[in-house]
Amino acid sequence: MRRMLLALFVTICHLFPASVLAATAPGFDLKKLQDDSLSTLVDLIKMDTSQPAGNEYLATDYLGKRLDEVGIAYKTFESEPGRTNIVARIKGDGSKKPLLLLGHTDVVTVERENWTFDPFSGTVAQGKIFGRGAADDKGIVAVSFEVLIALKRYNIPLSRDVIFLGVADEEGGGGLGITYMIENHLEEISAEFGINEGGRGSIDPQTNLYSVFSIGTAEKTPRRAVLTVEGRAGHGSVPTRDNSIGVLATAVSKLFETPLPMQLNETTRTFFTRLAQTRPKAEADIYRAILAPNPSIETQEKLRDINPSMFSIIRTSVVPTIFEGGYQRNVIPSSAQATLDIRALPDTDPEVMFEQLANIIDDPRVKITPMKVTRPAHSPAPLSTDLFNAFERVLAQQHPSATVLPSMLTGATDSAQLRSVGIATYGFGPGAFLGENNGIHGNDEYLRVEPFSEYARLMWLIVTDVAAQ
Ligand SMILES: [Zn+2]
Repeated sequence: MRRMLLALFVTICHLFPASVLAATAPGFDLKKLQDDSLSTLVDLIKMDTSQPAGNEYLATDYLGKRLDEVGIAYKTFESEPGRTNIVARIKGDGSKKPLLLLGHTDVVTVERENWTFDPFSGTVAQGKIFGRGAADDKGIVAVSFEVLIALKRYNIPLSRDVIFLGVADEEGGGGLGITYMIENHLEEISAEFGINEGGRGSIDPQTNLYSVFSIGTAEKTPRRAVLTVEGRAGHGSVPTRDNSIGVLATAVSKLFETPLPMQLNETTRTFFTRLAQTRPKAEADIYRAILAPNPSIETQEKLRDINPSMFSIIRTSVVPTIFEGGYQRNVIPSSAQATLDIRALPDTDPEVMFEQLANIIDDPRVKITPMKVTRPAHSPAPLSTDLFNAFERVLAQQHPSATVLPSMLTGATDSAQLRSVGIATYGFGPGAFLGENNGIHGNDEYLRVEPFSEYARLMWLIVTDVAAQ
């Protein structure tokens, strides 16, 4: 009998992994988690935490009050007056290292006159939540926060601490937020894994099913630089060889015509392999050609035709964004400058990279000055960890129609700083229809209510999968 019971117990444990057991923990109320996430999101949107002032204390005061109500201890850390970060922790049994759930409470500014609704009202209409920060990043803050509260409410036994971190200043590069926390209070947030913004589900509008879950495992590092050419000023009627505008334009055009060499890493290799398995043949053939040794530049250009970001994730990209010089049409100016938005592949040595650029330009008259760096070089998060496995397992169970794609962001997030100190950080976020950009950093930013609720459910399953006993 004992043996039979034991066998039955083992079978049940196999049938119901930790996440399912936790999801059915006594009294667990999924709808409450979803409703609370929505109301917390609306409350957070109502606080104007827009850059450059930030005033993130509005959000951390509110979150602190909510934590007091449920008896979860927390600490706040002010990097500058009003620029507050908040950390709360639920203890596990210590058998595994902590899991960090983070989001940023600051938002970018708004052009109020171009919004349909007040950007700080959190209006819910047409199945959407409108407001600055809805998609970037208060929805993620709200769900991470409510998951933490639910872990406490239902007394879920944990094998690792779960830490919630609400940071300031992400939109300013993280200096007063994640960088400040890492430099001054790393012991408060130190973890094996982090879950941050930088990923999402894509819903196929034809079938209404999730077709892809992008999990952010890597991102590029911004490394901007200014090119300067000094020449002789002169009369516009006399064509000199050292015309600063001409020399600079030639340098910029060489960089424009000569992309840096392509290079794949674990994330992009897996990304293209999985796309090749799921996309129509003509498109899949391009991904297979990219995965073959030494793809030609013509093959790489085909990626740019499908989507320019795919061309960006296989190399360090160099994009001219500002060109300045001259002030009168019959005067040759004595100097001209161009700004390059360089996005380096992870693990790039900046010195080597700037030398590559100097070699392409091949003109000592062009001076390259690197600009201040806000995001550190770092290695991608590995794909063989307990957390990445949890993403794959839970998403495959819950949405068999979807492919899980480890992804490299062309933009930058706080994950850069966390990965640079060895916290394997993964991007995950609410779903949207394929190609939808949710007005992020633009007007009428929104999240769809239904995918937001589904994101809350999936986060619960993933967090309990990786952190519950
Ligand atoms: Zn963001």
